[in-house]
Amino acid sequence: MKIEDVGVIGVVGAGTMGHGITQTSAQAGYAVYLIDIDKETVRNALKAIEEGPFGLKKLVEKGRLALDQVQSILDRISTTTDYDEFSERVDVVIEAVPENLKLKQRIFKILDEKCRPHAVFASNTSGIMITELAAELKRKERFVGMHWFNPAQVMPLIEVVRGSLTSDETFNLTLGLSRKLGKIPVETNDGPGFCTTRFMAAYLFEAIKLYEAGIANTRGIDEMVKLAFKHPLGPFELMDLIGLDTMLHIGEYIYGLTWDPQYKPPLILRKLVLSGYTGDPRFKPGSRGGWREYFKQVES
Ligand code: NAD
Repeated sequence: MKIEDVGVIGVVGAGTMGHGITQTSAQAGYAVYLIDIDKETVRNALKAIEEGPFGLKKLVEKGRLALDQVQSILDRISTTTDYDEFSERVDVVIEAVPENLKLKQRIFKILDEKCRPHAVFASNTSGIMITELAAELKRKERFVGMHWFNPAQVMPLIEVVRGSLTSDETFNLTLGLSRKLGKIPVETNDGPGFCTTRFMAAYLFEAIKLYEAGIANTRGIDEMVKLAFKHPLGPFELMDLIGLDTMLHIGEYIYGLTWDPQYKPPLILRKLVLSGYTGDPRFKPGSRGGWREYFKQVES
């Protein structure tokens, strides 16, 4: 398939990333078909696209979008909970369901059976190997990694990941599509965590090891990193935002495949997750809190 032949982008999963990818694609002029198993999530996604902190109305307020464009962008987005309807129409699928290998494999198997032969599949996985996701599919050559960053509407990078069997045609189509979506694609080869997630895991786990070694407390490490390196968030603040359960899973996956000790999740991280401290409750519903809350609880 050539880039000019991409008519409908299908987005699977209407959560944090899926709604941002949907908005970005519709803003770039594409018809977007968004699917989720949960109707309420779909409603929330459409609301966030219209009124959320990175939504269309905010862009109008900031003078970055004309008011009369809002409705035409919204009109380009269709939603469904039905895989048959979805599969009939899409040319490129961008999958953004939770970071769970079995779930993603199950969904891609269904899509592989139902989608038209030319359709290209991209996964927004943060770090599961593309080759592993494609292993059971017929269209291994038309499978690629398309790793966006949060918030998808704002962050410029897309890490485009070449699986072992991704064809040049698919890879180049994905680079071209990323540019048409207003993003900057960077080419990456396959491996657990690719480039960015692997780098981030080593960096964040090092912060935990510094704390465990008694070099500084979590607040001190956050302050130093922000002041010394101009990072907008310290490593503990960043982990609270990403989710501590997510960090644990990422570490387990990368360490499990590389056996490189720098990716081994520190024990204290596992303790927080097992105690229900999975990060900032504003981003992790049901969490008892993040690093600061956990230590207050332990100390009292
Ligand atoms: P999320 O939990 O916010 O959203 C996932 C959505 O998938 C939910 O709405 C859920 O209802 C839906 N879903 C579950 N099963 C489904 C199915 N069978 N069919 C259709 N929809 C289904 O997750 P997220 O944070 O958006 O992450 C999605 C993916 O993006 C993950 O692989 C994650 O690693 C990756 N990612 C996340 C971030 C981030 O900062 N959140 C950044 C980059 C990449």
